[in-house]
Amino acid sequence: MSQYWTDIVNKLDPYIPGEQPQDQQYVKLNTNENPYPPSAKAIQAIDSYKKDKLKLYPDPESTLLREALAFRFNLQKENIFVGNGSDEVLAHSFQAFFKQQKNLLFPDLSYSFYPVYCGLYEIESTTIPLNENFTINSADYNIDNGGIIIPNPNAPTSILMPLSDIEKICRESSSVVIIDEAYIDFGGETAIPLTKKYDNLLVIQTFSKSRSMAGLRLGYAVGHAALIDGLNRIKNSFNSYPVDSLAQVAAVASIKDEPYFQQSCQKIIQTRKKATEDLQKLGFTVLPSAANFIFVTHQTRGAQQLYAELKQAGVLVRYFNKPRIDNYLRITIGTDEEMQTLISTLHGLLT
Ligand code: PMP
Repeated sequence: MSQYWTDIVNKLDPYIPGEQPQDQQYVKLNTNENPYPPSAKAIQAIDSYKKDKLKLYPDPESTLLREALAFRFNLQKENIFVGNGSDEVLAHSFQAFFKQQKNLLFPDLSYSFYPVYCGLYEIESTTIPLNENFTINSADYNIDNGGIIIPNPNAPTSILMPLSDIEKICRESSSVVIIDEAYIDFGGETAIPLTKKYDNLLVIQTFSKSRSMAGLRLGYAVGHAALIDGLNRIKNSFNSYPVDSLAQVAAVASIKDEPYFQQSCQKIIQTRKKATEDLQKLGFTVLPSAANFIFVTHQTRGAQQLYAELKQAGVLVRYFNKPRIDNYLRITIGTDEEMQTLISTLHGLLT
């Protein structure tokens, strides 16, 4: 609190990211990072970048990166916007599309940054409760609205919504619909092809999860050229160079390395299957996941206590002290070895 703060700063309720402890080595399963390294080609691209060129500003349009993404999705570069992490792309999208007379809609349990952006940009919102089993009922979104945003798969529940439901929501809404596909590559089908059919649909993805580049900060939006133009107007009124030169070359190389991308996504999916079975044997209910994390609750042992005991034993998972989910843990899928450590630690705690 300071006398120099503006009203809006006083009112903000900032996002609290998952712990990034510096004090000790944890088995870190709390922030949905990928346990595998980025593509060797991406690392090579950074290594061979002429460092002398860092004295120059990066390409403000990230042209080569947008072309590479457009090629992958069979679109034009005019359909692609890139930014400093999908958090930045989301923030610009809220400002570009969601400050409307009518309320923005999003699920009551979803990415906890959405209400923070609403606070920052003074956007009114209505949260739509998930069903009892944490699935989304698409019909609930067929009400008057100033925009809709849904993560798919949803976070932190990990549950995937069928593409047919997304199409229904786009068809019925006259405002912008954003599908936040941060976790789509771990078992879902992207809504990107639907952007050709619905000019109100914007799909946002990230390099942080399936491409193992959370540290580079890269995200992108895909949609009709008019939506992308709107985002560019915000970006060019905020920061002309959000994506640095090294991030641009590494991202292009990563996109061109499709086999590695497929292989590391498949590895996470296999590990998720095994971890799910092992946790079920220990008395956990595991929601059906299409993400690189699972959302679990135990028959008898409270989640908050388990979170603390796991941390004490050197295994970090995520606990949300929020209504409806305060007896759940969100566990990122790590390597097979990391998951084995989790399982044996839990075995010790529960038996
Ligand atoms: N959307 C969702 C649903 C997320 O969980 C995250 C990760 N915290 C993001 C977007 C943002 O990811 P990034 O900024 O690293 O691209």
